[in-house]
Amino acid sequence: MSDQKITKNEKRMERGLKTILVPVCMVCWIFPAQAQVKVVSEGAAQAVVVTAEKPTETAAYAVRELVKHVKLATDVILDIVPESEVPTDVNTLIYVGQTQAALRQGIDAERLPRETFVIRSVGNDLFILGRESDANPLDPGNPDVGTLFGVYEFLEEFVGVRWLWPGELGTYVPHTNTIIVPAIRQMEAPALLFRRLRSHGHIISENSEDARLGFSPEVARNYHEALDVLYRRHRMGGMDAHPPTGHNTIDWRLYGEEHPEWFMLTRSGTRGNPRPGSENPQISLCVTNEELQDFIIKQWDGKSTLVLGPEDTPGRCICDKCRAWDGPQPTSAPWFATLMYDDPYKTDVFYGQTSDRYARFWKIIREKAAKQNPNVLVSVSYLYENEFTAPLTNIKLDKNFYGEFVQWRDPHLRYFPMPEAAFEWIKEQWLGWKKTGIRMGYRPNYLHDGYVMPYFDTWQSGAFFKFAYENGMEGTDFDMNTGQWAVQGLRLYMHLRLHSNPELKIKKIREEYFSAFGPAAESIKRFCDYWESYAIENVLNFIKNMEVRRYAKYPLQAHQAFPLNVFVPASAILEQALEEARTSPRPEFEERVKFLKVGIEHARLTVKLAAIYNGNKNVPEDRLDEAKEALRKLVQFRKDHQHLYFSDLYHVTSFWERQQWNMNYFSGL
Ligand SMILES: [Zn+2]
Repeated sequence: MSDQKITKNEKRMERGLKTILVPVCMVCWIFPAQAQVKVVSEGAAQAVVVTAEKPTETAAYAVRELVKHVKLATDVILDIVPESEVPTDVNTLIYVGQTQAALRQGIDAERLPRETFVIRSVGNDLFILGRESDANPLDPGNPDVGTLFGVYEFLEEFVGVRWLWPGELGTYVPHTNTIIVPAIRQMEAPALLFRRLRSHGHIISENSEDARLGFSPEVARNYHEALDVLYRRHRMGGMDAHPPTGHNTIDWRLYGEEHPEWFMLTRSGTRGNPRPGSENPQISLCVTNEELQDFIIKQWDGKSTLVLGPEDTPGRCICDKCRAWDGPQPTSAPWFATLMYDDPYKTDVFYGQTSDRYARFWKIIREKAAKQNPNVLVSVSYLYENEFTAPLTNIKLDKNFYGEFVQWRDPHLRYFPMPEAAFEWIKEQWLGWKKTGIRMGYRPNYLHDGYVMPYFDTWQSGAFFKFAYENGMEGTDFDMNTGQWAVQGLRLYMHLRLHSNPELKIKKIREEYFSAFGPAAESIKRFCDYWESYAIENVLNFIKNMEVRRYAKYPLQAHQAFPLNVFVPASAILEQALEEARTSPRPEFEERVKFLKVGIEHARLTVKLAAIYNGNKNVPEDRLDEAKEALRKLVQFRKDHQHLYFSDLYHVTSFWERQQWNMNYFSGL
């Protein structure tokens, strides 16, 4: 057992997490002969994998994952036998899943909590199990996957497997001829209750624009499957425990005519839509209206979670009663948060901080609801927009309220990296909300940033993730993984790793990623540092010049954010990395460097097209031929490399490019 393992285990015990670990390592040192769980020794199998007579879907899948990765590590294929056919001439039996033998050892997995696994050595044998079933083990809402999670923990800890990105090339398994496991007694569940990086669906029809410009339908389907596998390997899921969330459900179009007084008052003295003419307006409520409060209770079924999220747009009621519930407003906003208190639409509703008002509203609704159901959970859903900043009136909520932290609105706060002062300020808002006693999740949007460019951050976003975890974060629901694995892969890998173990050091996660490039590890670190430094140095530039466009409108300014000359030094580093990788007899290192090169070349081709559009919806008349040629090259490149999953091309075309650019010019290409 490595020192590292001891440190991690002991640290978890100190922190009182859901981990029960006996520091058996001391025993190994005193009685080294006890460490006899030999899986492979000197290139020869020392173990067989034992299953129940009829293993569940989850156990069968877990066994396939175990055998597959042990083979990748050692070239040895372990035999799989049912309990009734256990051989007597092997050193080690690895029992995977619920078996009679495990029951005889007193391990009754059915009594374990959801998503929990046990890894335990008994003499020379090893048991890996948890709750399991015949439901789809890849379903993120299926909590009966303890056995599978145990296998993944085993592969990471004892085989050193690193899952960097979807697909085979993204799976790094250090080659070895010996796997010996120390005596171990471990019971553990994921540190976060629920864990999600949203991603786009991948059903593309054969003749669609998306299929023509990016992913073909078949590759999109395969990518989606590979992504599901990758997510589960990182123990993403637990979504059965995610409280429901949503925006305001009292619709102005249904109730506005009969009850205008339920909706926000504007400065002009009218109730309702402050932006007449805009389609499908979301209208804030006059939350102090008692009739409205009673109507919300009347509508409720008396059982389920009460979802009370505010509107998905800023601006709140300005009536005296509502304003009286507000906390003190800042006399001047911090320089990085002025938009938090400003009306970008120049309408006439209230744009200040309404956290205290809404906290009081949520509390009143819960008091009314508790008369029917004292255990009701109120999902306030989003700590966002006008309710992002922490309350200032010392209002107390408790564990019957759940809210998700969504940094947004002011562009200084939306994305990582951000100015240091902004970083400190959002942490204060988190702590302020935590102080109310509310249950908290994290639902940021910053992974949307960057389009197909080599844009990422690890240090600051990693630090915030760890800070949130240390301060009560129950789970996550990230919007969204845009799948730019070849240009933003380090950031994505870090997020996956932190989800399965938020206590890992950012430095260690980065080193894991670099190690997958073998002899080129040091150069790949320099390559990643080059781009992360570029992002940090340009924080204020990007905010100033790109404003809110960094979200969906990125293609309009990609050529300004990433002019072609900034790729030159990075490409030189990759060329050096390629030479270094080739010194290894194992071709995988060179292939991974080439994967990064594909991402850079794709970004360059995209920048060339973006420069022709030059921020416009349409291509200028005199550059049409040039644009057609640039697009033809880009699409050809995508088709040639899509099977590598270097980019979620469906997200690229459907969410970004076709939304911003008129691409009809190219239907004949
Ligand atoms: Zn009001």
